[in-house]
Amino acid sequence: MRVPFLDLRAAYLELKAEIDAAVARVLESGWYILGEEVDAFEVEYATYCGARHCVGVASGLDALHLALHAMGVGPGDEVIVPANTYIATWLAVSQCGARPVPVEPDPQTHNIDPQRIEAAITQRTKVLLPVHLYGQPADLDAIIAIARRYELRVLEDAAQAHGARYKGKRIGAHADAIAWSFYPGKNLGAVGDAGAVTTNDDALAERLRVLRNYGSRVKYVNEVRGWNSRLDPLQAAILRVKLAHLDEWNTRRASIAAYYLQALSETDLVLPHVPRWADPVWHLFVVRHPLRDVVQKRLKEDGIQTLIHYPIPPHRQLAFADLELISEPLLTASRLADEVLSLPIGPHISFEQAEQVVVAMQRAIVNL
Ligand SMILES: *Cc1c(COP(=O)(O)O)cnc(C)c1O
Repeated sequence: MRVPFLDLRAAYLELKAEIDAAVARVLESGWYILGEEVDAFEVEYATYCGARHCVGVASGLDALHLALHAMGVGPGDEVIVPANTYIATWLAVSQCGARPVPVEPDPQTHNIDPQRIEAAITQRTKVLLPVHLYGQPADLDAIIAIARRYELRVLEDAAQAHGARYKGKRIGAHADAIAWSFYPGKNLGAVGDAGAVTTNDDALAERLRVLRNYGSRVKYVNEVRGWNSRLDPLQAAILRVKLAHLDEWNTRRASIAAYYLQALSETDLVLPHVPRWADPVWHLFVVRHPLRDVVQKRLKEDGIQTLIHYPIPPHRQLAFADLELISEPLLTASRLADEVLSLPIGPHISFEQAEQVVVAMQRAIVNL
């Protein structure tokens, strides 16, 4: 491959000295569950997000699941989710025994279409769960206004949006709670699984601290049936190093995105649309073409690795084959799944590599 989709090893090598020192610090501390390193990351990430609290957990899926559970979501409840998302968003709902109710995306932004949310609300709806897909903020003001009208809570899935801004303010404190993943490939990535919830709600944060730690505040005193889902201090130490570089790495992503947008503007591809109020962080750079599979194959032959986010939408997965309440056929989400293609983007793609992607793409779509 001349241009890999994402080079995680390069991310480590750039910060090797700092990361190695952080890892050694944890190993030598003799303290390996929660503790100072996790506390320090939580304070630093809450500050970065402009939120009062950050609670570190074991993964992005756990962040979503525990946040929903802490909001009281359980069997018989419904949670409104985007039809177009990674399956984790839906699984967090089903893990609570509740039902994910999908709403179609706006075909321009690929994010949940706020205008279609109200029609999906029922007596059982408890939470709206928008996703900031590809690092592009969803239209939060419109979504939060609907939630206020129906007395619902809002949980944001920000697994792809570290550092993104909505109307000038960083994602992380707009809605009731915000779930984060630090999966290695995310904009802020650990070297294994890790996640967190940020919130301004003191009671919710406290409930999450108990839920992640066996339902316990004091060792061997268990108030509720909890989970073991604690942020690992080794991951916390590495995330502290990487957090200091997040804005700079997001800026590098943005310059690759700006180049792609300009260099591919005269082609038949449908390029990402950025609403006026959004400052995206380009977790993914997703283009559309009706003959996507041919384009991808030609790019691969030219040494360009691309991925599809996501080839099978949750409603077409066997995992959700028994879900009755899919009120609409979800044609937009299905069409996007057939047409989307993610180009290489990241803080360690050189400008020369981005140029190679553009040249290969121009060759790939000619005469299609
Ligand atoms: C990555 C991701 C998750 C899940 O995060 P994990 O840390 O892998 O559990 C959830 N939602 C979205 C949109 C994601 O991209």
